Amino acid sequence: MADLGVVLSARDAIAVESIRVDAPGPGEVVVRIEATGVCHSDLHVIEEDGWGFSYPILLGHEGAGTVEAVGEGARSLAPGDRVVLGWKTSCGECSACLRGDARRCKAPPAAPGRLHRDDGTALTPVLRLGTFATRTVVPEAAAVKVPRELPVEQACLLGCAVATGVLSVLETAKVWEGARVAVIGCGAVGLSVVQGARLAGASVIRALDLDERKSTQALSFGATTTEPGPVDFVFDAVARGTTFAQGLSLLASGGTYVLIGLSPGGEHAKIDLPRLFAKRARILVSHGGDHLASEDFPRLADWALEGELDLAAMVTRTAGLDGWREALDAMRSGDVIRTVLIP
Ligand SMILES: [Zn+2]
Ligand SMILES: [Zn+2]
Repeated sequence: MADLGVVLSARDAIAVESIRVDAPGPGEVVVRIEATGVCHSDLHVIEEDGWGFSYPILLGHEGAGTVEAVGEGARSLAPGDRVVLGWKTSCGECSACLRGDARRCKAPPAAPGRLHRDDGTALTPVLRLGTFATRTVVPEAAAVKVPRELPVEQACLLGCAVATGVLSVLETAKVWEGARVAVIGCGAVGLSVVQGARLAGASVIRALDLDERKSTQALSFGATTTEPGPVDFVFDAVARGTTFAQGLSLLASGGTYVLIGLSPGGEHAKIDLPRLFAKRARILVSHGGDHLASEDFPRLADWALEGELDLAAMVTRTAGLDGWREALDAMRSGDVIRTVLIP
């Protein structure tokens, strides 16, 4: 059967196309995608003219599936393994990796040149993954084995939203037991922050969203209130000048603001420096929660299987690859937590 993928071929030009998937090169694997979440970053790629990726672009970066073939030397995986694909892996060679900080690797490995349009043109997979497809090719390090007991439409969420939200709490901010936490923006990432804060033992978890449906929904994931109030940590999944100001205003003395969301190009924020100084506030940036796929996906999967993380309630809808348009519309309107595409 021919392979299919959702291709952004130019600004505003998206279609399901038949694609060509090469055999894996050394250290690479071919993965049959069985579920892929539709994440805001894909919308960001579409709305920000490719977000730096060169056209044509194969969309999707939150996927799970089964290893179909392994290239020479890819010894950690075998055909038939259930894997979650990760966009945050480490190269082992950049300055961050060399100083032992693999979570901030600057050059995660890719498997370039393996995916093509039907006419042979090379496709650029979003975040080196390209999961809105029946199959894709990734470096071995970007396919992390997880237990097959975890339903695949839940497992895929570990690949971006859940890793980003939970690890923003546990890794980026290192929230302590008893801390007071606020989350601005209660989509899939925000709800994962809520769950991470619950895992960390936060005493107060404030779920804030302009859309009341979303903040209320957060209560069932562990949020304790939908009212603003003083906190030790603010996680901003919206990332606008207004939410930045709101976040700083909520911080108690010594509090930490964590920027998670992707801002539109040109977005600015103003800081009252004397107030920042008086508050001794810290401002952190979370790139996907500074997660490391190889270390974090297995433990997130275990927490899900143990009932510590609720993934099932995050999957609002499923659809085929041709459901990409409705999935993006539903995300814009806030009607879903996640649409998961089943290629
Ligand atoms: Zn590196
Ligand atoms: Zn994402």
